[in-house]
Amino acid sequence: MRIVVLAGGIGGARFLRGLKQAAPDADITVIGNTGDDIHLFGLKVCPDLDTVMYTLGGGINEEQGWGRDDETFHLKEELAAYGVGPEWFGLGDRDFATHIVRTQMLGAGYPLSAVTEALCDRWKPGVRLIPMTDDRVETHVAVTLPDDASAEGPGERKAIHFQEYWVRLRASVPAEAVVPVGAELAKPAPGVLEAIAEADVVLFPPSNPVVSVGTILAVPGIREAIADAGVPVVGLSPIIGDAPVRGMADKVLAAVGVESTAAAVAEHYGSGLLDGWLVDTTDAGSVERVEAAGIRCRAVPLLMTDLEATVRMADEALALAEEVRGA
Ligand code: GDP
Ligand code: CA
Repeated sequence: MRIVVLAGGIGGARFLRGLKQAAPDADITVIGNTGDDIHLFGLKVCPDLDTVMYTLGGGINEEQGWGRDDETFHLKEELAAYGVGPEWFGLGDRDFATHIVRTQMLGAGYPLSAVTEALCDRWKPGVRLIPMTDDRVETHVAVTLPDDASAEGPGERKAIHFQEYWVRLRASVPAEAVVPVGAELAKPAPGVLEAIAEADVVLFPPSNPVVSVGTILAVPGIREAIADAGVPVVGLSPIIGDAPVRGMADKVLAAVGVESTAAAVAEHYGSGLLDGWLVDTTDAGSVERVEAAGIRCRAVPLLMTDLEATVRMADEALALAEEVRGA
């Protein structure tokens, strides 16, 4: 079985760990979000690709969900001693090595997809990890900064990098718009459209619908390829009981006019894209609403508390895909 998964960082990576165990013989291609990518200290950092790579390759900081295990921060401290920031983005010494190798290869002319493959030669994530595009896409968030948060004057509306919004500001001000800058001119990376065309099933893990899955779908050709593939497309809700399980997804959902409920996220993707949707048992009451939107829906436990629970979620997603296929 060939499975394609559109993944962000933590939610995508943790789900993939369960999927690998639920479908050990499957050939899994992960299309990774690169809208979160940022240049720091002259280095190209790809947070979501690395979270998937480290999680599946056994190098992740488990408690945190991102970054390397057994990490130290000497380099960051030395940079800070020179007054070189930003200090709000946590890059550890081990993690730095990944960004140095990546930046060096990009500088030598390799596309990001080839660089990612080379990094995965070390980590052996057990899936084929492809960035959504080799072109530069950067998610920006329009905000109005209150007086005290802005050095440039009160009530100033401006667009900031997604990481600045998410990590530095912790989404503490409303997101007025979310724009994947560069997406409209980006091309899917080599292998992306082919993997979708050859897939038996496409899964949306419980990743952020706006800044993870939404950004991948914003690359022209990807949404169309999935809608036209003629195979079951099944998603799992990252929203449980009207709130994100972790993080601030509600802030970016509000920016695109979508309420933070499992049903509203399903409707946001729409029946033109989604065939099946899993909501948590807490949200069993919304199954009817999702099905009324033309999307087959089941309520099952959706908390990735441990590997076993995550494997069961992947099993449920694959079962729903078969149900859709048979319909
Ligand atoms: P990010 O790039 O690191 O933010 O990760 P993703 O976009 O892949 O996933 C973030 C989403 O995962 C958040 O909106 C969370 O609500 C969701 N999430 C995290 N843990 C769980 C879980 O155990 N169950 C479900 N259903 N969603 C989760
Ligand atoms: Ca992310």
